Amino acid sequence: MDSIAEQSGPASHVGSVNTERIPHSRPTIQESDVRAVVEVLASGRLADAAQVTLFERELSSYVGHTGGIATNSGTSALYLALLSLGHDSRNEVIIPSYACIALLNAVYAAHLMPVVVDINEYDYNISLNAIKRAIGRKTKAIIAPHMFGDPITDIQEIVELGVPVVEDCALSVGASVDGRKVGSIAELAVFSFYATKLLTTGHGGMVLSSSDEKLRTMRDLMQYDHRPEYGQSFNFRLTDFQAALGRSQLAELDDFIAQRRRIARRYNQSFKDMSCVRVPARLEGSVYFRYILEVEHADSWIASLCRQAVGCRRPVFKPLHEYLSLNRDDYPNSDRAHRHNVSMPIYPGLREKDVEFIIDRVATCQTSFRCWGKIP
Ligand SMILES: *Cc1c(COP(=O)(O)O)cnc(C)c1O
Repeated sequence: MDSIAEQSGPASHVGSVNTERIPHSRPTIQESDVRAVVEVLASGRLADAAQVTLFERELSSYVGHTGGIATNSGTSALYLALLSLGHDSRNEVIIPSYACIALLNAVYAAHLMPVVVDINEYDYNISLNAIKRAIGRKTKAIIAPHMFGDPITDIQEIVELGVPVVEDCALSVGASVDGRKVGSIAELAVFSFYATKLLTTGHGGMVLSSSDEKLRTMRDLMQYDHRPEYGQSFNFRLTDFQAALGRSQLAELDDFIAQRRRIARRYNQSFKDMSCVRVPARLEGSVYFRYILEVEHADSWIASLCRQAVGCRRPVFKPLHEYLSLNRDDYPNSDRAHRHNVSMPIYPGLREKDVEFIIDRVATCQTSFRCWGKIP
């Protein structure tokens, strides 16, 4: 979903001429983060030590699960979560089309079959009705990503369908729905700490659960050494200095979220009267991982904003139904989102003058593109 190039500026982009003055995304690394990592380096204990265990405990308790397993990526966390469901004749996993390709990779890696469904008309999250149509005897699991910081409003109903659900919180750690943190509602939840995500360890991830059995299965799959008998296992571990970074980032998470919400309010205020952009309604519990503008042609807006030194992107590189050459008529909402959505810079390090510059550049774009008018 995100390219390496966008971790920090300058970055090049299709259609860009100038160097990006404002990168699309940038991690927030503070003095306390640096100290935490250096302490571990100086200790000489770089792996399998205290920091990983503490990070697992702290994130589980922040989200609301009894345990967690830190991994080297969100993709590994998803893969482990799918493996924890065991083997039987059910082999289909329901996933939304408008999501990160990591979902597809994890499903295939686990030798399962993806069943791709559409998103909602009113937000970018997986559609409960589409899930109901796709669910069947062979359904093994549903992967439900809370997209762009917005909680899935129907997550409780999805869990009640009776099929194991993996809440994918890679883009929404800290978000909540009806007073509950995302990730705490289903039996399994996965997180990513890639450099562009809300909190980062460079690369990294975690899977959380409150099922002792599933936690045991997954831990066992991660334990490759000291096995009395051979059993397939993996090394997806996180290092201790990464876990130390994760812990110090987690301590700042609520502040990061407050800053994202503050910037979002500024944007909302400024964009609501511009006739060429639509600002989709966001939920109370959103953590604004992405700030999405809907415009008539995302491509031309992105090219133009990038030329004006504002880093912006399509929030999803390519919908999954396109990769699989599925009938696009079955994915009208995903298609529409892909055509119109532009992801704008939003992160704690964005200064007030950057925000003003971005708003000004969007206003300039307005004058050069055909408008589709306001939603009635
Ligand atoms: C980033 C992401 C992942 C994969 O995480 P990695 O750490 O990059 O492997 C999975 N799901 C979603 C929704 C993501 O955005």
